[in-house]
Amino acid sequence: MSGTFVGMPAFPEAAREAVGNPTLRGNLRHATHTIRAKRAKAVAELSDWAALREAGKQIKDHTLRQLDRYLVQLEESVTAAGGTVHWAADADEANRIVTRLVKETGESEVVKVKSMATQEIGLNEALEAAGIRAYETDLAELIVQLGNDRPSHILVPAIHRNRGEIRDIFRAEMSEWGRPAPEGLTDTPAELAEAARLHLREKFLRAKVGVSGANFMVAETGTLVVVESEGNGRMCLTLPETLISVVGIEKIVPTWRDLEVFLQTLPRSSTAERMNPYTSTWTGTTDGDGPQTFHLVLLDNGRTDTLADEVGRQALRCIRCSACLNVCPVYERAGGHAYGSVYPGPIGAILSPQLRGTQSEIDASLPYASSLCGACYEVCPVAIDIPEVLVHLRERIVEGGPVTRDGNKVVLKPAKGHAAERAAMRAARWAFGRPGALRTGQRLASRTRRFHPRTLPGPGRAWSGTRDLPAVPAEPFRDWWQRTQGTIGEGGAK
Ligand code: SF4
Repeated sequence: MSGTFVGMPAFPEAAREAVGNPTLRGNLRHATHTIRAKRAKAVAELSDWAALREAGKQIKDHTLRQLDRYLVQLEESVTAAGGTVHWAADADEANRIVTRLVKETGESEVVKVKSMATQEIGLNEALEAAGIRAYETDLAELIVQLGNDRPSHILVPAIHRNRGEIRDIFRAEMSEWGRPAPEGLTDTPAELAEAARLHLREKFLRAKVGVSGANFMVAETGTLVVVESEGNGRMCLTLPETLISVVGIEKIVPTWRDLEVFLQTLPRSSTAERMNPYTSTWTGTTDGDGPQTFHLVLLDNGRTDTLADEVGRQALRCIRCSACLNVCPVYERAGGHAYGSVYPGPIGAILSPQLRGTQSEIDASLPYASSLCGACYEVCPVAIDIPEVLVHLRERIVEGGPVTRDGNKVVLKPAKGHAAERAAMRAARWAFGRPGALRTGQRLASRTRRFHPRTLPGPGRAWSGTRDLPAVPAEPFRDWWQRTQGTIGEGGAK
């Protein structure tokens, strides 16, 4: 069983510890810089990248606006193709459904395809509590599971580990879970991959139940799609007798035509491949071919609440490519664990507080885990304006907006703290609404600049403790402009 994120400290505290770890920072820097350079090259090959990005955005927005209709269509298509659809309002319900379905097969172990949705609901832990062992088969997920660790990246969950660490984990832990690591295993990639292949092969051949997520669900035919690089997913999706897929309700696309867009943007954004090596699609069941029983568990778990927020709902466009993580200066330094969620980095900072609410310290701190540099927005293949959502969530937290959930109810959370910030914002609003007063204040600040403190007093001390206060210029910009250009813009001080 992997470690969990329960009880994580707020982001600043967790990040402080992470940035003090030179090995972690080295591993992250090397990996994110390598992936980001490759991605930029792969994207630059397509002259119509901007059009594909816009198309992806439009398709997702269209689908989310009519999600109720497409979900019903999907259910009808899956059922007509021989599958069974289950609806799960939250993580507990989804875990109960999957546990019951596995128990009904009489099996006590399952093989898993890499899946963010099952990580999100803590499925492995729920199955373990019911006496069912879940084997992760994605190489990086296997490393995380064997190391009793937590994932730190959407695409490369073990990105925080280097080759030497992986070799040590394989040597120490593989025998506990099945076939041991080969004698004299070194840290060369080929040997590590072969050790994992041998370890996993016997699980694929033995498993009667497979558990997956899906990257997409095509409403018109009820087809599920998994894209991957290793082929482990293909094994899990075809060899077992029973397949259970747990998928977030936002993963729908209306038609195969729509899927075409994402099959171009996802591989280039995630692994920098023109086309991912394995694209598996399945529609219900087929006699004599693949799993003969198929269950689809449609997961809400905070998604309809997110959909109700006009600004925040764009987070549901996410296709989990992880490009935003790889360009984020905060993620690169703090690492994925500091985000206290299976969704780290910029997308995690806007998705986790919306899916989980902001009752916990960690979720309330996540919208602040960003410098708002905007690099995440630039690379996002579905044009999610992450900085816009971050600012929106900060506003909701400061104002005490509808950010917490109680079952299906949205509950107003009273604002606490941030009184100094609110007072500062009120003062700024007052000054910006009075150009004359603003100009007088700027002149006064320029003339007294030699006496300004280097750190702020009172509640501002924490802010200035980690930043240099910007120097006030000797002459306000608008005075300089008027002196050198002879005019001042409309609405400026006269
Ligand atoms: S927010 Fe955009 S860039 Fe980040 S993982 Fe999702 S789709 Fe990729």
